[in-house]
Amino acid sequence: MDFALSPDAVAYRNLVRTIIADTVTNEAIDEIHRTGTFDLPALNFALAKHGLLERAVPGMGKGDPIELWILFNELEKAGAPYDGIAVSLMIAGVVNAVGTEEQKQRIIPSIVTGEAGVCMGYSEPDYGSDVASIVTRAVRDGDSWIINGAKMWTTMAHVAKWLILLTRTDPDLPKHRGLTMFILPMDTPGITVKPVHTMASEHTNATWYDDVTVGDEAVLGEVNGGWRTMTVALAFERGVMGGTNQGVPLLTHFTKWAQHVGLAQDPAVKVEMAKAAIDMHVSTLLTQRAAWIAASGGLPGLEGSMAKLFATEAYQREARALQHVAAQPGLLGFHEDGAAAEGFIDYDARHSPVTTIYGGTSEIQRNNIAERHLGLPRNR
Ligand SMILES: Cc1cc2nc3c(=O)[nH]c(=O)nc-3n(C[C@H](O)[C@H](O)[C@H](O)COP(=O)(O)OP(=O)(O)OC[C@H]3O[C@@H](n4cnc5c(N)ncnc54)[C@H](O)[C@@H]3O)c2cc1C
Repeated sequence: MDFALSPDAVAYRNLVRTIIADTVTNEAIDEIHRTGTFDLPALNFALAKHGLLERAVPGMGKGDPIELWILFNELEKAGAPYDGIAVSLMIAGVVNAVGTEEQKQRIIPSIVTGEAGVCMGYSEPDYGSDVASIVTRAVRDGDSWIINGAKMWTTMAHVAKWLILLTRTDPDLPKHRGLTMFILPMDTPGITVKPVHTMASEHTNATWYDDVTVGDEAVLGEVNGGWRTMTVALAFERGVMGGTNQGVPLLTHFTKWAQHVGLAQDPAVKVEMAKAAIDMHVSTLLTQRAAWIAASGGLPGLEGSMAKLFATEAYQREARALQHVAAQPGLLGFHEDGAAAEGFIDYDARHSPVTTIYGGTSEIQRNNIAERHLGLPRNR
């Protein structure tokens, strides 16, 4: 099998690299880590201007399928802030897969021009892994739906234009069958957003919904068919658009620092660096497979779980190992004198554990793989 990129794919990669070099400045990265909002409008607009966002919507059939992997791999390797744009493109893919023609016309252009971001309201204070048990209610009232409830971890809600919201519409049906997904503007009256700051630097949010009123144009997929919409969203979220090569910028930062302080030739340190490099190669191959399936119109529910599970656990393992060999300087953060790799070792050690939680925890990915790939019985 030939894994080399075609000349067109190399040209595409060069364009992405140029856009990153032009927009992702050190000041921008500093600001993003300061605010915890991993989104950079200048980068999003530049990618959109060259048509790269539209080409990256999973299942839209634009561009070579390998481009989806190239785009996020380049963003990730460069340490660029891609969380906002990844969620937005993922939801554009969901609208494309299950939305009405009217929704596709109204929503997708606002995303692929880089103007509108999207946030995801699935998890609740009491339900994360068991998201099918959520209790936020949407009740029919004439031609409208009235939504009441609370969500937790609604990342990007403080900057997004659109919200995708999982609700319970029929409490009498079995839990997976009484759900409906909505997509609505964040400025709809009745929505409250409050910040939640995490140890990973990330600014996420708690959100509340008080008599939020929308019409049928906001129903995404079938009424009581929200689980199907959710399945599409999750298939694009895991192991497809970034989040699987975060050990690469970690290793880049570490290597530069280790060379500078004379640690890079230490055999014990070299072993850790080699282990990290091998892990990231495996993650790359797993991600290429999941991203290719998504970009070709498929749903990599299983392949994405494999990529996400391996890559995030590897990232966490590497961050711990490299922090260990960096010793005390590895405990110092950004702008602290003497910090290893200008604070990135400390950042990765704080950030990596969280990556094994969001998008579904490692245990949930293992359950998914055990049941769907290995044919083992359900554990619940
Ligand atoms: C920084 C961050 C950003 C996030 N962003 C978003 C977002 O934008 N939108 C959104 O909707 N959600 C978001 N989440 C929520 C995330 O998806 C949930 O935190 C995650 O699914 C776990 O749910 P939980 O926190 O309720 O933990 P729980 O579900 O309570 O899990 C607790 C522990 O039990 C384990 N466990 C649970 N069920 C099983 C099982 N069946 N088998 C084995 N082990 C199990 C879990 O693995 C975990 O170790 C975010 C979370 C974080 C931390």
